[in-house]
Amino acid sequence: MADKGITTIGRCYGCKRTFGYDPERVTMFLVDPDTALPPNMTPQGTTREPTPEALARSRHVPVCPDCVRRAERARQDDGSTWPRGTA
Ligand SMILES: [Zn+2]
Repeated sequence: MADKGITTIGRCYGCKRTFGYDPERVTMFLVDPDTALPPNMTPQGTTREPTPEALARSRHVPVCPDCVRRAERARQDDGSTWPRGTA
């Protein structure tokens, strides 16, 4: 069966869609639950050195393949960070 590797259900960081994934292959994003951003990113969108506290409470969240593709395409198009849905 093609879905054999899909053993985990999670919510996509990008689109909040629930999807099944293979934890060994899925793209994961490290997110600080206090800010809902990566621990090295400020709410203003700039980067900083992550604090040990932020790293300790951060969790890896999955990103669905659609969002990975959109993010890659947007990065190639104009270098912007996260795509504004065109779908
Ligand atoms: Zn998504």
